[in-house]
Amino acid sequence: MTFAARNDRSVGGQMRSPAIETMAPDAIASLQGERLRAQLAYIAAHSPFYERKWRAAGFDPARLRSPADLSAAPFTEKDELRASQMAAPPLGTHASATLADVIRVHSTSGTTGRPSFIGITRADADQWTESLARVFWCEGVRREDVFVHAVGLSFFVGGLPVKDAIEAIGATFVPIGTGASERLVQATEALSGSVLFCTPSYAFYLAEKLAEAGSDPRSLGFRLLTLGAEPGGGIPDLRARLEHLYGARVTEAYGNGDVLPAFAATCEEADGNHFLVPDFVVLELIDVDTGEVLPWEDGARGELVATHLARECCPLVRFRTRDHIVVRTSPCPCGRTGPRWICEGRTDDMLIVAGVNVWPSAISDVVGSFAPRTTGALRILVNADGPAVPPPLRIRAEHGEDAGDLTALRRELEERIRAKLVVKAKVELVPPRTLERFEMKARYVERTDAT
Ligand SMILES: [Zn+2]
Repeated sequence: MTFAARNDRSVGGQMRSPAIETMAPDAIASLQGERLRAQLAYIAAHSPFYERKWRAAGFDPARLRSPADLSAAPFTEKDELRASQMAAPPLGTHASATLADVIRVHSTSGTTGRPSFIGITRADADQWTESLARVFWCEGVRREDVFVHAVGLSFFVGGLPVKDAIEAIGATFVPIGTGASERLVQATEALSGSVLFCTPSYAFYLAEKLAEAGSDPRSLGFRLLTLGAEPGGGIPDLRARLEHLYGARVTEAYGNGDVLPAFAATCEEADGNHFLVPDFVVLELIDVDTGEVLPWEDGARGELVATHLARECCPLVRFRTRDHIVVRTSPCPCGRTGPRWICEGRTDDMLIVAGVNVWPSAISDVVGSFAPRTTGALRILVNADGPAVPPPLRIRAEHGEDAGDLTALRRELEERIRAKLVVKAKVELVPPRTLERFEMKARYVERTDAT
């Protein structure tokens, strides 16, 4: 099975593959239907995992005509992929390709359970490169840029695949990695770094480190921060704070290691992540509890489900990403036609307080919006195992150096959380720099027995 890479690069315009990124919905459905039939036939012939799964569910892939018919197929859960790899190491019975065909292996870190491997063939790698190149092009990365890469390079799908994509755009890739803030500053100054790629947590961490050393993050001279690997870059208040701290535009990419490292991104309008690869993946929006397929309507909320359209190794059908999104469908001035979304968080991170869903990233956003009266650092103290937490939600947050009246600040925080997130919170304020910082992904929730 081969899927030719597209060559319709828009060098001077705002899109990397305008023919795909501006395609009309009926043309997309037709392209996806054709590719989906080919992909399912390939999977049926190469994947013992899906052969068994579909037989058990009574699903016949040969009868599928359009992407809408996918709802007849069973979902694929991350746990099933882990079990498949444990039963048939190293890649699992869903691999559909042998190690001889695989040119590189990545792994997803996973917030739960053991890491799982993802193999890619030459064709898969080319697809990853094209997908990520569209993502970074959409975010504004161009050939003239010096791209400072401040996430891990080993195993992580945001590592080497991002290098390939930045090189495909023709920009200059600078591999810094993690835990090397001094080297990052030196290299950025020496090479005139223009783009910083990191997690939202790291962007705040670095700004704080620089401020402690008496220097201004703006002096680094970045014109663009491209954020990924954790939710937050799409939250307007958080983005505004980082834009102010760095004096740079802030964009976000969205991805999922099992689907594609990144396949959606914010354009210059910054109103949600544009879906950029309808030729590689077909998406569904489902009700988290019932699994029912929901229409892509403006403001719709649900879980993102992905099906590969042109994957050789580890192709997935109706994979539950566990990411909760809010959909945007209003036309975007940039001209891209695909749906957009903001990722609120992952099922694993969600807390339920008196029946209300609460995302730790949303709490962080409220606390951070009080800066400089707060430092932005916080913990959510949870005295329970599951997502359900009895009210009030206990939050420990650092006040700033010149926070003024702490009792007033505490009350304002509690009121703002109640107003914005409809949840009763009890805030405890602690002095600046008492909470441990996260250099990569934030872990706001602390399971504790303390009262
Ligand atoms: Zn746009």
